[in-house]
Amino acid sequence: MKAYPCDVLIVGGGLAGLQAAVTIQEKAPASKVVIADLGGGASSEIMGFCAPLAPGDSPERFAEDILRVGGGENDPALVKRLTEDAVATVRRLETLGIEFDKNDRQEYDLLKPLGSSCPRVVHHKTVTGKAIIERYRAILARNNHIAFHKSRIVKLFKHKGRIAGALGFERGAPVGYSTSNVILASGGGAGLFGFSSWTKMLNGSGYALAHDAGAELVGMNRIQFEPCVSVYPEKLYGFPIITTLLHEGVRLVDGNGDPVVNEPLPKRELALRIASVVSEGKDCGHGGVWFDFSGVEEEAFKTRYPEYYSKLRPYADRMADLRIEVKPAAHTTLGGVAINAHAETSVPGLFAAGEVTGGVHGADRIGGNAGLEVLVFGRAAGESSAAYDAPAVDIAGPAEDFLSAIPCGRSEREFLSSIGEILNDFCGVISSRKDLLAGLSRLNQLHTEFVNDPPVRKEDHVVCCHAFTTAAVFLESRLDSADT
Ligand SMILES: Cc1cc2nc3c(=O)[nH]c(=O)nc-3n(C[C@H](O)[C@H](O)[C@H](O)COP(=O)(O)OP(=O)(O)OC[C@H]3O[C@@H](n4cnc5c(N)ncnc54)[C@H](O)[C@@H]3O)c2cc1C
Repeated sequence: MKAYPCDVLIVGGGLAGLQAAVTIQEKAPASKVVIADLGGGASSEIMGFCAPLAPGDSPERFAEDILRVGGGENDPALVKRLTEDAVATVRRLETLGIEFDKNDRQEYDLLKPLGSSCPRVVHHKTVTGKAIIERYRAILARNNHIAFHKSRIVKLFKHKGRIAGALGFERGAPVGYSTSNVILASGGGAGLFGFSSWTKMLNGSGYALAHDAGAELVGMNRIQFEPCVSVYPEKLYGFPIITTLLHEGVRLVDGNGDPVVNEPLPKRELALRIASVVSEGKDCGHGGVWFDFSGVEEEAFKTRYPEYYSKLRPYADRMADLRIEVKPAAHTTLGGVAINAHAETSVPGLFAAGEVTGGVHGADRIGGNAGLEVLVFGRAAGESSAAYDAPAVDIAGPAEDFLSAIPCGRSEREFLSSIGEILNDFCGVISSRKDLLAGLSRLNQLHTEFVNDPPVRKEDHVVCCHAFTTAAVFLESRLDSADT
């Protein structure tokens, strides 16, 4: 097994993981950091995030909103850190060159998210997440102590109650990470649902990793459903439409032409309302309700939401006729790994940040708070990780034991690679009769293993059968002419 010793392993390269890495680089520049990431995270979708920058707004008022919308299920210490660090987060990004949109008076162009008592979402056009990711990746690329691995982390190991390392798979091969310091930033699990607002990549593996390592999970009953995800026209199926548009004149209308709500509600209540209308049989033909743009001022839509404008506007000749059928889809996971305000979990050496964690949002999340959460607690995780020191332990033994105890059929790739080795070793440029017979014997042995423990997929099964047949033909056909 390949081994990668490192000071810190970050599981997940979304904004929480990147923010943690940037902070470690700032606090402990010589740290050897590996970021294991499969890609496809939700951070690229962040349109903007909350910060109390409007006149009359404050961290206290922001915290009141969060606790109200979260139904008091929130951890007040996390809410305090989130709200108090928000403005500093904006300033820090500005010093790194991120430009937030401003109006003619050079005030921040703040959007009002559902559930918020005032406008609060700062944004760089509609691509804030992408812009910050790009900036952070450029910063990290200059540091040769930081490596990105396209590996899937499947197990965290502990030694004497502390984190000792992790096991991953990189292009199908097992890789071991010996490190006493792991930051879990693996995002949410809404992708496990059949209808979700984001990709299947976000399958919640971080919750399983943490749970298995003995970390506490909180609020796992709280999944946020994005209220307005397109179901029709078909080409837009699964496309989430930003709900701040409900403050710009969009109306939700049921199949009878009646309004679904009289005022914009927080996301959870809105999703419940839409789901009830649909379950009462008042849908608009495809299991959803109309997201009706007829009351939206075209110029405002075009300038404030250019990506949405160019994607949605072509679906009607006149703005007044533009309507998309939407229904709620599993969106973000509100619960997750329990952390304190320093992003420490209950397991020494395990830190966590971003959507994989729980506690800050409670029963419901105000739009724009996930983007803030990844930045604030990504930074907290980076700070705590940089200050943490514990001896490293070699995890090769436990990793091998873990792998050999997994009771599953071998993959087609493993059989093909074993067949390849047999041909390399016994059917090379020069092969004696003795070699070829030994190769055939090894091939038969492998075939018996294949029969007893075949790959699960039928297609893989046939691919292996073909490989066994052809390999046997290669070996046998050279027997007659081979030297003894
Ligand atoms: C469509 C959409 C729009 C959104 N818009 C907004 C918005 O405007 N404002 C806002 O505040 N929030 C928004 N959110 C929510 C926000 O995007 C997420 O909560 C946030 O980006 C999560 O960031 P993260 O770094 O925790 O995880 P992610 O960015 O999801 O990254 C997690 C990464 O971990 C990797 N990973 C997972 N498991 C493993 C493993 N076992 N091994 C290795 N790698 C692994 C994944 O491949 C992924 O790359 C939106 C979400 C969606 C889906």
